[in-house]
Amino acid sequence: MAWFVAGVLAVIVVFGYFGLTVFWWTVAAALLTWYLSVIAGFGLVTNTVLAAVFILVACVLNIPPLRRAVLSNRVLAIYRRILPDMSQTEKEAIDAGTVWWDADLFSGKPDWDKLLATPEPRLSPEEQAFLDGPVEELCAMCNDWEITHERQDLPPHVWQFIKDKGFLGMIIPKQYGGLGFSAAAHSAVVMKLSTRSSTAAISVMVPNSLGPGELLLHYGTEEQKNHYLPRLAKGLEVPCFALTSPEAGSDAASIPDHGVVCKGTWQGKEVLGMRVTWDKRYITLGPVATLLGLAFRLYDPEKLLGSKTDLGITCALVPTNTPGVNIGRRHLPLNAAFQNGPNSGKDVFMPLDWIIGGPEYAGKGWMMLMGCLAAGRAISLPTSSVGGAKALTRFTGAYARVRSQFRTPIGKLEGVEEALGRIAAHCYMMDATRVMTAGAVDAGEKPAVLSAIAKYHMTERARACVNDAMDILGGKGICLGPNNWVGRGYQMAPIAITVEGANILTRTLIIFGQGAIRCHPYVLREMRAAKEMRGAQAAREFDDAFTSHIGHVLRNGVRSFIYGITQSAFAPVPRSASPETRHYYRHLSRLSAAFAFLADMSMLAMGGALKRKEKISGRLGDVLSMMYLASATLKRYEDQGRIRADLPLVRWAVRDALYRAQQAIDGILSNFPVKALATLLRWTIFPLGTPFRPPLDSRNHECARIALEPGAARDRLTAGMFVPKNESDATGILEAAFLATVACEPIEKKLREAVKSGILEPRSGMDLPAVAEEKNVISREEHLLWQRKEALRKSVIKVDDFPQDFGRAAIVAALEDETVKMKAA
Ligand SMILES: Cc1cc2nc3c(=O)[nH]c(=O)nc-3n(C[C@H](O)[C@H](O)[C@H](O)COP(=O)(O)OP(=O)(O)OC[C@H]3O[C@@H](n4cnc5c(N)ncnc54)[C@H](O)[C@@H]3O)c2cc1C
Repeated sequence: MAWFVAGVLAVIVVFGYFGLTVFWWTVAAALLTWYLSVIAGFGLVTNTVLAAVFILVACVLNIPPLRRAVLSNRVLAIYRRILPDMSQTEKEAIDAGTVWWDADLFSGKPDWDKLLATPEPRLSPEEQAFLDGPVEELCAMCNDWEITHERQDLPPHVWQFIKDKGFLGMIIPKQYGGLGFSAAAHSAVVMKLSTRSSTAAISVMVPNSLGPGELLLHYGTEEQKNHYLPRLAKGLEVPCFALTSPEAGSDAASIPDHGVVCKGTWQGKEVLGMRVTWDKRYITLGPVATLLGLAFRLYDPEKLLGSKTDLGITCALVPTNTPGVNIGRRHLPLNAAFQNGPNSGKDVFMPLDWIIGGPEYAGKGWMMLMGCLAAGRAISLPTSSVGGAKALTRFTGAYARVRSQFRTPIGKLEGVEEALGRIAAHCYMMDATRVMTAGAVDAGEKPAVLSAIAKYHMTERARACVNDAMDILGGKGICLGPNNWVGRGYQMAPIAITVEGANILTRTLIIFGQGAIRCHPYVLREMRAAKEMRGAQAAREFDDAFTSHIGHVLRNGVRSFIYGITQSAFAPVPRSASPETRHYYRHLSRLSAAFAFLADMSMLAMGGALKRKEKISGRLGDVLSMMYLASATLKRYEDQGRIRADLPLVRWAVRDALYRAQQAIDGILSNFPVKALATLLRWTIFPLGTPFRPPLDSRNHECARIALEPGAARDRLTAGMFVPKNESDATGILEAAFLATVACEPIEKKLREAVKSGILEPRSGMDLPAVAEEKNVISREEHLLWQRKEALRKSVIKVDDFPQDFGRAAIVAALEDETVKMKAA
């Protein structure tokens, strides 16, 4: 009997592991049943009954029409009952975009060789020349304090430069006069600008993201394209896109803004048009826009366009000088100076040709928006966050070396080092994710789920980095002024968190919610069979997807357990992986199997309610996200030629991601609504307990060292950012002070040793280096070097101060004026 049990277990493990089809399971079951009959010595009657039952079950499972009639059609009926109905907008959101590496991670069996074979995106010589020329120039033109405090806007000559050099038309093809850049180049431009001026970066980013340009490219009529695209490319039009309204923020599809199809007079003629009423807010570039992309719901009560009265969300292009358009007022988003504000209109008449794509596209606005969302979301905010992280890594590292307390550069104090090491490792992982995601866009993907992962995690990590940087800088980060290069970034961190899908919603609804349906190999097929197909076609499709789904769950459960008890020893690794990172691929393969199994079991246990269980779905999304971020990090290490000096960053980042993924799974299991199933899942996924630990302190030390040492590793980590060469600039002087500090450290050592040995006797007020020169402890050149370093250091640690009536001067003058007038009266 023991052999029989062992045989059953062996079949489950081996067949489950390799995901064999039902036919092979039947063959194995036949052999085991025969063996059972032999060892148990069953009589003729028992054997006949056993054989009959076996044949019956085997026929049901192996003959598709029979299987459908007995099994899968019944499941399909239940599935149809419990599957919540989806609105058209939900369907369009789910159908939008494509899946890529996320589908591999969701399968439980990621094809690492395929990932590593994907070429790293490269810039063309023309794109590189643009980065080295106009982008570098634009960065040098931007003075953040002038922009964010003194002008609350980009100076006119900077605006003009942006327009003239084609920054607003990076995604517009050359045939329309645009720059026609790749996603990688677009990302590199926004990243570099973000290291210098968020205002410039956002002003450039928005027209190149989801908005009039992108919508026209995909859906515009030839006439619309020929008219608007060249004007947008040259900055003759400044576009904005208005979706959000006071009543509809995250739930953007519920916009109350509406238009009614009707006849009206346009340029002296009676034409068929729309009378549109809207009230929008938070619209970036709105106050200075000349072309308003407007989303509203279109109704056709008189059925002038067809038989439908509610046509649905529609996108139109409205010149902002159209009578009745109220635009120009500003919001003040956390002291950021980019243009952002409300706009509205009441019963504004506009011709039907203003609909993007013309009247045929009336009501297709949501599909258009969802279809175009992924590319922009994959670039804009992830990229600007990486720019922020690069600037923080370089400049915070420099400051932590220049600033000393307790006679030690603060970056070498372990508490500070911990925060700095985190910033550096996050920066590596963020840049890796940026590059891989932009590469996917260039390869033709519209990565709906991956763009949400990139948006959520890059903005959250940028927030973590700026919090760490603020702690490292102390009072220097807090006192705003021309010499504070971090305070505005800190103020603005929540903006990126909120826009293009606020982060809580992105994590809890989109990453896993959309991912589970889009990336899962069978769920979408099952849903389509249940909701969109009927009769024999539905039965066949559902049966095929459902039986494959069962095999998929079994395979992932078995793999998860086997990888668990062997500590990932047998989990797949890519053939070409470097020896020093192979174990990370193994752990990720294990996590992928565990995640796929857990996702299916969660859907089974919670069904449609999982959508509302956002604490569970958010954590499932975290596991998927961590696997994506870790994959990007490992790929980056390979793509860059396995540079050993970067290994601490890779190790810290991947270990951190593995640990976070594990904690998310642990959180799901601890809160799983079906407790018995949770226990079973824990035994399967973590049979020997939780294996991953947070990154080591020693690794954190190595990461911090990269940010604290001038050299190739620091330059690579912050590659693509703007580093001012001008010492009258706050960060330019910081970079110079950093280099001078490092250069003077041997001199400092000489001074210290001379004091220790009694050659120098420091006294209050004494110029120690001067005395040291006199006593030949240091040379003249060394003394001059020291003096320069000291001058730079003093400038760097300086904080700004202002007159007592700072910021109130105008108010005080106005009040005084009023008092004088009152007295005179
Ligand atoms: C500076 C700035 C620039 C912007 N630019 C533009 C622009 O150019 N064009 C444009 O159309 N819009 C723009 N927006 C609007 C932006 O996209 C919205 O602010 C965003 O979608 C969130 O809407 P809300 O602010 O009304 O927050 P709300 O919808 O009120 O959300 C509040 C909180 O609830 C959470 N939440 C909501 N629903 C769920 C859910 N189902 N599950 C879990 N959590 C949920 C959100 O994540 C958020 O944390 C901009 C906003 C800002 C602040």
